[in-house]
Amino acid sequence: MVRQPIICGNWKMYKTIEEATGFIETLAPLITQSQVHVYLAVPFTAIYPAAIAAQNTAIIIGAQNMNDAAEGAFTGEIAGKMIKEAGAKFVILGHSERRIYFGETDQIILKKVQRALLDEIQPIVCIGEKIEERDAGINDEVLSAQLEGSVGSLSADQAARLIIAYEPVWAIGTGKIATPEVAQKQHLFCREWMAAKWGQITADQIKILYGGSVKPDNISALMAQPDIDGALVGGASLSAVAFNEIIHYAIAKMIEKSTFEQHESSHG
Ligand code: PEP
Repeated sequence: MVRQPIICGNWKMYKTIEEATGFIETLAPLITQSQVHVYLAVPFTAIYPAAIAAQNTAIIIGAQNMNDAAEGAFTGEIAGKMIKEAGAKFVILGHSERRIYFGETDQIILKKVQRALLDEIQPIVCIGEKIEERDAGINDEVLSAQLEGSVGSLSADQAARLIIAYEPVWAIGTGKIATPEVAQKQHLFCREWMAAKWGQITADQIKILYGGSVKPDNISALMAQPDIDGALVGGASLSAVAFNEIIHYAIAKMIEKSTFEQHESSHG
């Protein structure tokens, strides 16, 4: 089954309003084809101007975090309805940097996911093992615990609205990418976990993105894998040139994958 891929940039704590809008004005004219969805997770301050700059383009703007409460006395926090009003269509939740530096647990992430769904903002839920967990051979156990804790109590209908990002922590910002085979194995593991939880039809609908040092020179091999439905891109999404190249390699691979599927189905 070919799922329409998503290439999602995660700008982290980079780009002022001026830099964000300048980036979108450079990128938007280069991505007129629609085979791949292009998402950009921008800092809170840039959501509104970025959403205005991205109007009538193929770029979809989102946020990198939100609070789990509808509103309240939580100094410094931002609610889902606020990012939505500013123009965010999706939100990254449970990124490893939030888990490591801001103490976010699966329980907290689940509450944020539930709030995002209530607010009709699509959650991109990040999971991934640390290097010591991979070395200890417990990567599958870590992933299933994170899935169970952060999304396991959702209904199948709610789950169908999720995007999952498999981001091995050891590959984020390190230049060390998981090989396409290792990434595929973990994506398939997640898909099978979801099929056992919500049924195969729902599991087949949920896109699983790979994240961790994705660059123009490795995206094609990743996208060739059957269970890799796109990428969450940190560092390389800060350059409009590199991000555009990643998008175009993903489009080319998507066309190749669907042509192959059509050929396979017409030949039984
Ligand atoms: C990320 O921050 O989600 C990420 C994958 O970063 P990078 O592409 O820089 O490894």
